[in-house]
Amino acid sequence: MAKTKQFKTESQKLLNLMVNSIYTHKEIFLREIISNASDAIDKRHYLALTNTELMTDYNISIELDEENRTITISDNGVGLTEDELVNNLGTIARSGSKEFADSLDNADIEIIGQFGVGFYSAFMVAQKVTVITKSVNSEEAFKWVSTGTSTYTISNTEKEEAGTTIILELRDNNEETEENYNDYLTEYTIKDLVKKYSDYVRYPIKMDVTKYDYPEDKKKDPIVYKELETLNSMIPLWKKNKSEITLEEYSDFYKHQFNDYTEPLKVIHSKVEGITTYTSLLFIPKKAPFDLYSEKFEKGLQLYSKGVFIMDKNKDLIPDHFRFVRGLVDSSDLNLNLSREMLQKDVQLKKIAKTVENKIKSELEKMQKNERDSYNEFYQIYGVNLKYGMYEGYGANKELLQDLIMFKTTKSDEFITLKEYVERIQKGQKHIYYASGKTKESILSLPQMDLLKDKDYEVLLFTDDIDEFMINILMKYDKLDFKSVAQGDLDLIDKKEEKELDKLNEEKKSLLDTLKEGLEEKVSEVKLSKRLKESPVCLVSGEGLSMEMEKVLQNMPTGKEAKATKILEINPNHDLFKTLEKVYENNPEKVKEYAKILYSQALLIEGLPLENPSEFSNLMVKLMIDSNK
Ligand code: ADP
Ligand code: MG
Repeated sequence: MAKTKQFKTESQKLLNLMVNSIYTHKEIFLREIISNASDAIDKRHYLALTNTELMTDYNISIELDEENRTITISDNGVGLTEDELVNNLGTIARSGSKEFADSLDNADIEIIGQFGVGFYSAFMVAQKVTVITKSVNSEEAFKWVSTGTSTYTISNTEKEEAGTTIILELRDNNEETEENYNDYLTEYTIKDLVKKYSDYVRYPIKMDVTKYDYPEDKKKDPIVYKELETLNSMIPLWKKNKSEITLEEYSDFYKHQFNDYTEPLKVIHSKVEGITTYTSLLFIPKKAPFDLYSEKFEKGLQLYSKGVFIMDKNKDLIPDHFRFVRGLVDSSDLNLNLSREMLQKDVQLKKIAKTVENKIKSELEKMQKNERDSYNEFYQIYGVNLKYGMYEGYGANKELLQDLIMFKTTKSDEFITLKEYVERIQKGQKHIYYASGKTKESILSLPQMDLLKDKDYEVLLFTDDIDEFMINILMKYDKLDFKSVAQGDLDLIDKKEEKELDKLNEEKKSLLDTLKEGLEEKVSEVKLSKRLKESPVCLVSGEGLSMEMEKVLQNMPTGKEAKATKILEINPNHDLFKTLEKVYENNPEKVKEYAKILYSQALLIEGLPLENPSEFSNLMVKLMIDSNK
């Protein structure tokens, strides 16, 4: 008796899309089915390492039946139990496909390739799909049938060997759209597709291929017969010599293996021999995965041992700061009898991970040095990830990452490295300066930039939220420390000037204290500025949290309490200061109102919200009236 079951909602969406098949590359269905077959054999091969009874002559076979218009793809992999059939073919198990299905409504159809639509792609060419399967863990065999509507059926059946057979009943040809599904019934097309997409599948893909024997006598017809032929070369790409592999081959391999639609930005292929021997083939995708910065993102490299697939996403092989890297490691030194948990603690694996990390770093550095345009492209996509890497490790990755990060500056619209900054630093400049803001223009117009502009010092532009947090971890570069233009002492004026200012600060103490009183707890101090030249006032932060960090933290659910200490600085050389002195002499209370106005203005310049906009507005109006009495 066949049981009828419902596809899960997200599966239905994806199915619908396949059935209506707006996607132009329908031929990928074969790649997807073969890759599932190969995965299933991988799994059996892996189990067979500890259970030799499972060993067999692994292969995938394709049969074409022109009369019935079917393609049958069989494998002798692990097979599926009844539960697995329901769970793996009735729902979308992989997070990638699920996200994709969720975003289907507005998804660009061409990005399907990125998600590797998998099994359901069969419905792009088939009107009915039958799966006959028997798990290596079960005596029972099952038949799964669907026509791509909202339901499928499962029933018991007979099958001798463990493994899976998938029968695709092709759709009718469509004259209107000129879609000719009969193409997929020709040996030529199938051979071609296998070569194109599945050449390096590690197991033989076999098909009966028509052969012609021409007799001596040319007048007689040739003898036609069929011969089982292996269609793929089976050599894993990474085992070939670098010099024998074209960029296109790397690219095809990458797209196929990692379900991407675009060619990679960078390929890193290396064979390492020594204490640990392994081959790694790594790719930097041209597009960051859509969920790179979400918690759901799963990093990891595929792990093989002597060409045998062990696992898909080994997290330990790739550090978080390079988590965007995809690829694989094939080592002959790993003990295959280790459980997956044990593998995590494996010393060899740790060594490999370290070498892989250094390799990526050195390749990125090379790219930065020799192909700056590509590096810029890379940096636009993954720069923030590197910065997070610097921040998250509490400085553990400083050395590794500090030369990979770059900034735009007040003098450069191109990204420059910290090394490049230091190389062209002004004579007498003692620190690396940075300023946070949305754009170069807004940063250049900050009052805190007055003296720096005057001295023609280059200032790093911090435009990402993470920047200040990261620099607080980095602390120094090439023995120079980092200074925010809006925090602490900028060290811009000479000793003599400094002394004079300190003296003046003392003399004007009562005025400054009264200003501070007017602001109550809003600021920790009001003082004469050592950084202003043209502008009358500015707000800076004291030690610790900066105002920029306060802004970022307050936008997070857990950071509402974050507060920077604020200091209101007044330019002693500005006319405003003389006015304040005059007002203070005549009416000390009045100066408190001025303090409130100045503070509000400074907040506005910083891009911070006014605490009490109507008070500010009233004070301004009062000031206008008073000044014209
Ligand atoms: P993916 O291969 O990325 O997991 P698919 O949609 O291609 O996604 O396949 C879904 C699941 O169906 C697989 O994960 C696997 O569990 C199961 N499956 C598909 N084809 C086979 C097969 N030939 N043998 C065993 N299991 C299979
Ligand atoms: Mg698949």
